[in-house]
Amino acid sequence: MSAPPLPAVSVCVVGSGPSGLYAVDAIARKRPDAAIDVLDRLPTPFGLVRAGVAPDHLGTKNIVRQFDRALSRPGIRFLGNVAVGRDLSLDELKAIYDAVILAVGAPLDRPLGVPGETLAGVYGSGAFVGWYNGHPDHAALAPRLPGPSVAVIGNGNVALDIARILAKTPEEMADSDLCAHAAEAITAAPITDIHIIGRRGPVEAAFTSVELAELGQLQRARPVVNAAALENLSTEAETDPRVRKVKERNLEILREFADRPDGGEPVRLHLHFHAAPCTVLDDGSGCAAGLRLERTQVKDGRAIGTGTTFDLPATTIITAIGYRCAAVPGLPMDESRGIIANEEGCVETGVYVTGWARRGPSGVIPTNRSDALAVAGRVLADLETVVLPKPGPDALDSLLTSRAVRPVCYADWQKIEAAEVARAAKGRPREKFIRVEDMLAALGPS
Ligand code: NAP
Repeated sequence: MSAPPLPAVSVCVVGSGPSGLYAVDAIARKRPDAAIDVLDRLPTPFGLVRAGVAPDHLGTKNIVRQFDRALSRPGIRFLGNVAVGRDLSLDELKAIYDAVILAVGAPLDRPLGVPGETLAGVYGSGAFVGWYNGHPDHAALAPRLPGPSVAVIGNGNVALDIARILAKTPEEMADSDLCAHAAEAITAAPITDIHIIGRRGPVEAAFTSVELAELGQLQRARPVVNAAALENLSTEAETDPRVRKVKERNLEILREFADRPDGGEPVRLHLHFHAAPCTVLDDGSGCAAGLRLERTQVKDGRAIGTGTTFDLPATTIITAIGYRCAAVPGLPMDESRGIIANEEGCVETGVYVTGWARRGPSGVIPTNRSDALAVAGRVLADLETVVLPKPGPDALDSLLTSRAVRPVCYADWQKIEAAEVARAAKGRPREKFIRVEDMLAALGPS
């Protein structure tokens, strides 16, 4: 005798970035009978693949082909331009779906916590990257880029992305999807010196080697490293052999940078280590003029100030020091980690969290796959216990119709995408719409 059919269950995934879509894929494979709705507050899917991944890293964005397949499966719907907290509440979603998975990322810049960080010319990397990538929240940022020096605080891959995008020539960016407004502003900015600032040493830097090596392959910019900062370094304290290998490769790259002769390049990328920001300096008119930094030593893995400070001029300062999750009303936050409090992805009965909102802003895109698989496993096990399924997608449709909310479906997104591709300059993959109104206008009259 075959087992009785499982009741038709429904799942809502809030957020259509990698973590949400990996979860969708994992659940759909095991429960093809489940109705899965994917909500996003923007009319466009793919989260950080669209608005975070560097515009010149187009290969990384190919992952969307896999996500396209997930969103095209029967039983799965994309509902863009539907915001939880604006169009409907989390409580309403909980009443409609058997499982609600929050894949809302960590969109808020962590504060630097030093005097002067609110001066004009100081930006968080979330805002700055969102600006050049055309995220509607940040596209109007219009950052001050008066030159000649920019400081990027942080020794992670986001700091490298920002430094590289500012250093590349228009020709090097010609086949990228850098938004036109940002390309124009960056081309016009008279930048000669970009400082990448680490509060710990080269061994502790969070760069990955491919991204670090890219700094050495730029047409008009030369990486500058003080050879003395690379003396007597050891990776022995690192116990994970894979991480140790990356650190050793990073040191090789940095040594190669330090050995490079000055070829008269018009832009220099200075890699500073053991320098912790103390104050953003004011130019006297409320604009950033530079950074006061304290020399540090690393003790037991922590940066300890030595009391010696020095000033570095910079009229634009970008902090690339990590992100926090936005609070979701009604759900507990783990304030110290900036995430939604959870136990292995479970927030409360029927509510789950995955990706950066679950574990914090770490790892590359595929890291979210293993994360999502684990959370999906938990969701699938709980779905097995559902006896009386909740009303599911029809109830969502009624609610949205009653509030005159018109979601952007997957076919609508494909129209927006086609319009972006059609308006791109020759050689570019797309010219993104940077305002929600323009995305919706591309759909024509409703
Ligand atoms: P990250 O890798 O965690 O790096 C953050 C950096 O900020 C660290 O160097 C950290 O130093 C520093 N920092 C934190 N607080 C600071 C403070 N108060 N003052 C000075 N420095 C401070 O984060 P991320 O660069 O934002 O990247 C997020 C994740 O996305 C990472 O996993 C990254 O690899 C990934 N990503 C990958 C790519 C790619 O693969 N191409 C591109 C972009 C991002 P400490 O180490 O001392 O805390």
